[in-house]
Amino acid sequence: MNYDALLESQRNFFLSQGTKSLKFRKEQLKTLKRLLKDNESRLHEAIYKDFKKSETENYLTELYLIYHEIDNAIKNLDQWARKERVSTNFFNFPARSYILKEPLGVTLVIGAWNYPYNLCFIPSIASIAAGNTVILKPSELPSNTSALMAELINSNFDKGFFHVIEGGVPETTALLEQRFDKIFFTGSPKVGQIIYQAAAKHLTPVTLELGGKNPTFFHKDANLSMGIKRMVWAKFLNSGQTCVAPDYILVHEDIKEKFLKKLVAEIEKHNYSIDRGNFLQIINDHNLKRLQSMLTNDNVYYGGNVNEGERYIEPTVLYPVNLDDAVMQEEIFGPILPVLTYRNLDEAIAITRRYEKPLSCYVFSGSRSVKRRILSEISFGCGSINESIMNYSNDKLPFGGVGHSGFGSYHGKFGFDTFSHQKAMLEKPNWLELNLKYYKYTKTKLNIIKRLFFSGIRY
Ligand code: NAD
Repeated sequence: MNYDALLESQRNFFLSQGTKSLKFRKEQLKTLKRLLKDNESRLHEAIYKDFKKSETENYLTELYLIYHEIDNAIKNLDQWARKERVSTNFFNFPARSYILKEPLGVTLVIGAWNYPYNLCFIPSIASIAAGNTVILKPSELPSNTSALMAELINSNFDKGFFHVIEGGVPETTALLEQRFDKIFFTGSPKVGQIIYQAAAKHLTPVTLELGGKNPTFFHKDANLSMGIKRMVWAKFLNSGQTCVAPDYILVHEDIKEKFLKKLVAEIEKHNYSIDRGNFLQIINDHNLKRLQSMLTNDNVYYGGNVNEGERYIEPTVLYPVNLDDAVMQEEIFGPILPVLTYRNLDEAIAITRRYEKPLSCYVFSGSRSVKRRILSEISFGCGSINESIMNYSNDKLPFGGVGHSGFGSYHGKFGFDTFSHQKAMLEKPNWLELNLKYYKYTKTKLNIIKRLFFSGIRY
């Protein structure tokens, strides 16, 4: 497929300076919100058809967060986009220094399937707020949500400003041939490498929002009832198909029996089922088979039932678990929770080091030293203490990975900054010019320079 014409129309739109006005950006964001609000029931229907996500979960984890992001951007845009004054160093006296927030240009947003609306629209909102044009490529796996996003956006926005391209690998590969001013990708580390390589050809900056195996610590002093309640909700939300979900549990040996008992009781309390709206289908047969291969007769401690026709896997706890088991070889991304035990923190931290730097880490403990050691010794993107995944919902916190779980961040102002260039400016009046920096260099000049400007602080 050839996208030359589309890219040209977006570039022309951008160069027409239309996106530079804050009023224009706010109007587009308002149009988007109105469009989504007016079509809420269709958005619910489409995602239910794709993987039976209920209206409540769709509202809570997709639409609410999108509406909030739009409102927040509209409310704060004047401030985010404002010229930022900074002080000027003595050597440049007299002058003013400031940073301009410059839009990057034509941007590409590529979404993952697991929260299809959220992962497509939230980066697009940030890009629009920052004054760019957007080509959005949703994941092809939830085909109904992808088709609906294309229909809504493409019939309500100028193609040169905001446009959806549907498709899978061939379409994305063709799109990546084009020169963008920014690519924002959410997906797996494997495809992240492909995106990064394609972007390098044009020196296009990228933000990669990837995944990993997220460790979750339950130390012996954890408040088990509260901790397990929060962690279980986070783990089985979206049927475990969440990039920030706890991937595996590291529980202290001394509390393992109590932990497992309470864990099972908490799971049972929720009566997880698609019909009750608190559980979803696995997105496709490929992922169902992948998850199924992690279950063996020996390791299922609780659950383990699979209904292939319904693409359903019961909330499942694996225990005991060996580090060589299939479940510990890759990101799980499903409703399977392996539980491992540790005797001391060194041992537990060493387990996390077997894997690439994860997107998230969660610590359930009241001990300052435990928290301090985990936070300082393990590198991960973001996390919570005595909670799981809820850091994601605070737009005052940057959301993003580190190492193989990605780089760059977004949400709230962080998204605006991700899609902006910080244009650093020094502005001088003409009434004074010190001649010290100019040739001819003399010993006296050097001494004055050293004394006046670079005497510095002695350490
Ligand atoms: P994926 O990498 O398979 O697909 C993501 C996107 O890339 C899709 O739009 C897909 O069409 C496209 N794509 C797939 N193969 C491609 C190729 N060869 N060339 C070009 N484009 C290609 O990921 P997924 O299965 O949609 O999502 C699951 C992964 O995403 C997990 O690793 C999860 O942790 C991660 N994820 C991360 C976040 C985050 O915010 N960090 C959020 C959700 C999911």
